[in-house]
Amino acid sequence: MHMSNRYDTLILGGGPAGYTAAIYAARAGLSCAVVEQGMPGGQIATTDVIENYPGFPSISGSELGMKFQEHAEAAGAETLYAMATGIERLDDDSFAITDGAQTYTAPTLILATGAVPRTVGFEGEDTYRGRGISYCATCDGMFYRGKQVFVIGGGNAAVEEAIYLSHIAGHVTMVVRRDVFRAPQGVVDTLLARDNVDVRYETSIVRVTGDQLLSKITFRNNAAGEEHEESFDEGSFGIFVFAGTQPTVELVEGLVELGRDGGVVTDDDMATATPGLFAAGDVRTKKLRQVITAASDGAIAAMSAYHYLNG
Ligand SMILES: Cc1cc2nc3c(=O)[nH]c(=O)nc-3n(C[C@H](O)[C@H](O)[C@H](O)COP(=O)(O)OP(=O)(O)OC[C@H]3O[C@@H](n4cnc5c(N)ncnc54)[C@H](O)[C@@H]3O)c2cc1C
Repeated sequence: MHMSNRYDTLILGGGPAGYTAAIYAARAGLSCAVVEQGMPGGQIATTDVIENYPGFPSISGSELGMKFQEHAEAAGAETLYAMATGIERLDDDSFAITDGAQTYTAPTLILATGAVPRTVGFEGEDTYRGRGISYCATCDGMFYRGKQVFVIGGGNAAVEEAIYLSHIAGHVTMVVRRDVFRAPQGVVDTLLARDNVDVRYETSIVRVTGDQLLSKITFRNNAAGEEHEESFDEGSFGIFVFAGTQPTVELVEGLVELGRDGGVVTDDDMATATPGLFAAGDVRTKKLRQVITAASDGAIAAMSAYHYLNG
């Protein structure tokens, strides 16, 4: 057990990026701690099944998260269960993380606070999350092979994800709030050329209901202001929401540069604009937000912290 609140490296966030960074940092001989406010595993802790992490054809998200934590702790990393409320750069260029009660310091900090998918806020969206409502085509598309899916969104991410889903699902219906897409015309043309895709423009979903799984959707035609309900067999369809991703960057504003998607800009070594501060995983500006890419970032960030500390 580490006897002080000072470490070689502090890792903020105990998701796949944070715990992979911890494995690499501890194995490189650095004293390190992961600061985590909730369940180990981050976003996957609340995910039913992961089917695309190499070596695990099917594993529950919470189990994989616990394995990451056990692995890091066996290598010598600690977990500090705390919600960080402030990050400060000290006069000696090291970093202090506080949760209001305790302060932890280290000359290097790996930011692995992840991201949260933006919700659209229709009635039932939270209740049926993971039971018919999904935020990730790469993650959950396979569960809808040959089935009907509704894709909410008119931006680039929504259109690209809909094209991906159209290769798996039986039929894709785009639900677009306005009378046009906000995505570049090239990708829209690719989508509309698919023979199993149709679009409902000026349409929103206002409510979903069901029993264990979804079975009813209430649509609103935004032009006419009219609502109508449609019923489906349970398990025969799904709704994918692509309203964007919100990287968790509040605590480092001013210390880092932010990219167009609101994520932290790093170089290939995961270094940010502040020396000694690295970022890894979904919190970064990036295209593919997955467990494997977060883990990869975490490994690189830890080795960069090691080299930073060792000149
Ligand atoms: C519903 C869903 C299903 C998914 N399915 C898959 C899948 O099948 N396969 C796949 O590869 N990917 C999947 N993903 C994506 C994957 O979960 C993420 O890409 C991955 O978890 C990112 O890891 P991360 O470590 O960067 O961040 P996160 O997993 O977001 O972890 C960040 C951690 O930081 C902690 N944290 C943030 N701020 C603070 C603070 N101030 N103090 C303390 N702790 C803090 C959070 O509590 C969280 O635990 C899914 C995501 C979702 C939402």
